[in-house]
Amino acid sequence: MTHREKIDFIRQKAFACGAKVFDSEPLSKHTTVRVGGKCDLMILTPDSETAARLYFACKDISLYSMILGNGSNCLFSDGGFRGAVIVSTCEKSGITVNGNTVSAPSGAMLINVCKVAQEAGLGGMEFAYGIPGTVGGAVYMNAGAYGGEIKNIVKSVRAMNSSGKVTAFTADELELGYRCSRFESTDEVILSAEFELTPADPKIILEKMEELMARRKSRQPLEYPSFGSAFKRPEGTYAGLVIEQSGLKGAVQGGAMISEKHANFIINLGNATAEDITTLIARAQAEVKRATGYSLEPEVRLIPESRE
Ligand SMILES: Cc1cc2nc3c(=O)[nH]c(=O)nc-3n(C[C@H](O)[C@H](O)[C@H](O)COP(=O)(O)OP(=O)(O)OC[C@H]3O[C@@H](n4cnc5c(N)ncnc54)[C@H](O)[C@@H]3O)c2cc1C
Repeated sequence: MTHREKIDFIRQKAFACGAKVFDSEPLSKHTTVRVGGKCDLMILTPDSETAARLYFACKDISLYSMILGNGSNCLFSDGGFRGAVIVSTCEKSGITVNGNTVSAPSGAMLINVCKVAQEAGLGGMEFAYGIPGTVGGAVYMNAGAYGGEIKNIVKSVRAMNSSGKVTAFTADELELGYRCSRFESTDEVILSAEFELTPADPKIILEKMEELMARRKSRQPLEYPSFGSAFKRPEGTYAGLVIEQSGLKGAVQGGAMISEKHANFIINLGNATAEDITTLIARAQAEVKRATGYSLEPEVRLIPESRE
């Protein structure tokens, strides 16, 4: 099959599954940093099972593909993506509460899961309220903030492998570490997650959520597109601090800038390219190493245009 034939084959399959399909879709429309060229095929699926099946259908015919959540931790290149990007953020419903457990499909936004938990009087998830990702992306990254992380609240995760087998993994089997999980290496697609929370007064939970959101707004440049923290926290210090100490706050490259408000945020001033951002990432790594000795590892996932 030629590349074009593979794309046509998956487009037909996606239509048949009730997915929405777009050709040559700009990835800048599907990432929070608003950067990225066009992908050959963008598939918006009605649910995560469909997303997983289409993803593995691409694999079966060797078509480059990936699952995208809310695109809040991904940087696509200016060349885009030579294959199919499959999104499952379409799951607005499906968040349920049973006792102290909240279950959500992988395409649900974390913020909506937090709201449901709060209304049900279940605390422990307040830290996640301002993280603009999906449940799938948050599990994949073991997202965390303000002393909390997915690892502390996740009870189990259902995921599909390339044979179509669905497994419910317990928290221990997820290999959750600092911004990482088993899913980085297993090529499984996350379908849903269960969170074990603690009964608490909904008013107190709401207050905590709002307080953490206010803290974010005061310290992070949320008025500009970004992907949150550009770098992981180096052992013994903070990425923002060493970037600032290296004199890089406010450094500009084309349409991208190292935020003056929070030096671990690279913001899009309006017309940033992926190249502007990767240049700033490389510059920060080199200058921080030279000035402080610390090595910075990107937290953002840099997505290649094609499979190497
Ligand atoms: C303003 C801002 C603030 C942020 N603050 C925080 C913060 O406080 N803490 C924090 O940890 N992060 C933060 N982030 C980063 C980001 O929101 C998190 O990493 C989030 O968990 C990513 O979710 P997503 O759905 O956007 O994932 P995406 O960026 O879409 O994807 C991330 C990775 O997960 C994979 N993936 C997504 N869904 C699935 C699935 N169903 N199955 C398998 N793989 C999947 C993708 O292939 C990709 O490799 C912030 C980002 C922004 C823009």
